[in-house]
Amino acid sequence: MRLILLGAPGAGKGTVAKLLTQLDGSVQISTGDILRGAVQAGTELGRKAEAFMKAGDLVPDDLILGIMEKRLQEPDCAKGFLLDGFPRTIPQAEALKTMLARLGVQLDVVANIEVPREEILNRLTTRRTCVNPQCQAIYNVRSQPPKVEGICDKCGSAVVQRADETEAAISRRLDIYQEKTAPLVAFYRREGFLLTITAPTSEGVVAAIQKQIAG
Ligand code: ADP
Ligand code: ZN
Repeated sequence: MRLILLGAPGAGKGTVAKLLTQLDGSVQISTGDILRGAVQAGTELGRKAEAFMKAGDLVPDDLILGIMEKRLQEPDCAKGFLLDGFPRTIPQAEALKTMLARLGVQLDVVANIEVPREEILNRLTTRRTCVNPQCQAIYNVRSQPPKVEGICDKCGSAVVQRADETEAAISRRLDIYQEKTAPLVAFYRREGFLLTITAPTSEGVVAAIQKQIAG
């Protein structure tokens, strides 16, 4: 399947993407994971992106488009892809449209996951992420803690609160989402791909997407 997952930080895009990859071998492409990996590895991309990310700001479009241009041409995308965290601005959405046309592929659906702001704040302040760039498993200290506190079940690395998950950075990310990313809902409604989902759990969101794709 070829899908865009749209939704505020904390809407569950990453969790839904991971569940969907298990269905048909589509790959999850998370620009946030790619950027955090680059920051950890200390690459040029990481050095350019780090300050924006830490403040909760968007990384400039040209950096993101450079990443995605390459990523979408890798062979594992042939089975399908789940875009998690991209596009995030209208210029990114326009550029993606051009890239997909050039690659000759069509989107199936743009899933807009809607979660109340209260719930988002609650989830983000309790979210913890594995520091291993190859893993980046997500936990929640209340609803889904790791078996051993602070240690990833999957790879044994440390599980920490992300630098951009302080209250100030979270509130900034939510404002930026409203300003820069929420306009994509109308964009994709016009393009005819939009599916808005209000299911309260990630499993419910996955079921709604499967139903839509099955037609
Ligand atoms: P979340 O969805 O929880 O906000 P992500 O992991 O998707 O987190 O992104 C983390 C940070 O990485 C963002 O706050 C932003 O700084 C940067 N980022 C990720 N994807 C993009 C994008 N498509 N455009 C601009 N910045 C991005
Ligand atoms: Zn891990």
